[in-house]
Amino acid sequence: MDEDESSVAVVKSGSEHSHSARLKKAKEIKAMRRAFATVKKRQRANIARVVNLENRKQRLLQTRKESIGNAGLLEQAVANLERNGIKVKRARTGEEAVSLVQGELAGEKLVVKSKSNLTKEVGLVEALADKGVEVMETDIGDRIIQVIGEKPSHPTGPASHLSKQEIADRLSTHFGQQIEPTAEAIVELVRDEIAAYISNASVGITGANAIAAEEGAVLLMHNEGNIIQVATRPGKHIIMAGIDKIYPNSEEALNMLKLQAFYATGALSTSFINIIAGTSQTADIEKKLIKGVHGPREMCLVLVDNHRSEIADSDYRELLYCIGCGQCLLVCPAYSVYGSEFSANSQLGGKGVVYAALNGEEADGGELDICLSCRHCQKNCPLAIDTSAMVNRLRLERHRRLREPHLAGAYDFVRAHIDWIGNALAVEATWLLAKLRGLGEDRG
Ligand code: SF4
Repeated sequence: MDEDESSVAVVKSGSEHSHSARLKKAKEIKAMRRAFATVKKRQRANIARVVNLENRKQRLLQTRKESIGNAGLLEQAVANLERNGIKVKRARTGEEAVSLVQGELAGEKLVVKSKSNLTKEVGLVEALADKGVEVMETDIGDRIIQVIGEKPSHPTGPASHLSKQEIADRLSTHFGQQIEPTAEAIVELVRDEIAAYISNASVGITGANAIAAEEGAVLLMHNEGNIIQVATRPGKHIIMAGIDKIYPNSEEALNMLKLQAFYATGALSTSFINIIAGTSQTADIEKKLIKGVHGPREMCLVLVDNHRSEIADSDYRELLYCIGCGQCLLVCPAYSVYGSEFSANSQLGGKGVVYAALNGEEADGGELDICLSCRHCQKNCPLAIDTSAMVNRLRLERHRRLREPHLAGAYDFVRAHIDWIGNALAVEATWLLAKLRGLGEDRG
């Protein structure tokens, strides 16, 4: 091959590469839209079965208003958790939280973990891996994402952007065998791998959906049944939770969980809700108290601030009302075109980008420009969180810093829409072309 031919080959392979990247993106967007449509359909089918939905939402909003940044409630929760024998450690920053968890591991080299957005926020898994600790995700979707090294696309459905064919193809290398592209075959294989790790682990790390101050209890909600197994490893149960997870009591926490289940999945309840107020114990033999009968001998809660106190005292306070259901992602027209590109580090969508900007996680600032200011997220959010207003406030602050505030809102609005139309057309054109070539048929 002479020089000219080789440069043609390089150009060709470069354009083939960018075409395959575009096709991969288009496939992911299509798969994500299908998964989101399924949740929305289930929500429509079940909405009449959620008794007093509007009252529940108002009640939750009131609870969040009274609980966020409530120092007295936080102290009550800590006192009652400790009274129940749960060790509580407070972390001001993400780094402190990671180092507290490391200290609790006391040399353990294998940890099983359940879904937790906070652990992503503080980079726990990567930090533990750097210290030689293997962290096994035990949620099926999270484990898939962990194996194939992708970004999650939804807080409760992290692999929503991948078709079963794509997952089977990409897991086949990891498992060293061709996997049948069916949900059943994939789940069976991933579950068996997870189960083997769980039975070998002495320590489990979970997040917390809520902490009930009055009872000193941690509430965990899940469908897969993995969380209770992680929480009952014989050595230690480590819980990592933000200070925004405090509720006055278990009744208010359960009201939140009911709404979270409906908005995240369209179901009226998850399969499991665990309320844990201390380790298992018995005094059956001569009244001697023995802890860890059928579960961990120790529980430790790492309570993380990481800018939450500052946000609670700022104009962005309502951001912390969020219960993490991901409903805003299901309805966001920008997310349905950009997918997880509309994110900053571990934080997804418009609300995530605002959160990341406030706690110093913003990647390059460009993520704020994606929001279309359409307010679909606010209209559909169970707490009516006005993400668009917060995005616009941050944009204005940025314009002020750059000394060009004139017509800033109009400029951002027009630019976001032009980019959005361009990207939407690119996804559709790539998908159509691939279908015509027989590459994009829906095998998922
Ligand atoms: S206002 Fe922004 S974040 Fe909210 S739905 Fe519209 S584009 Fe998405």
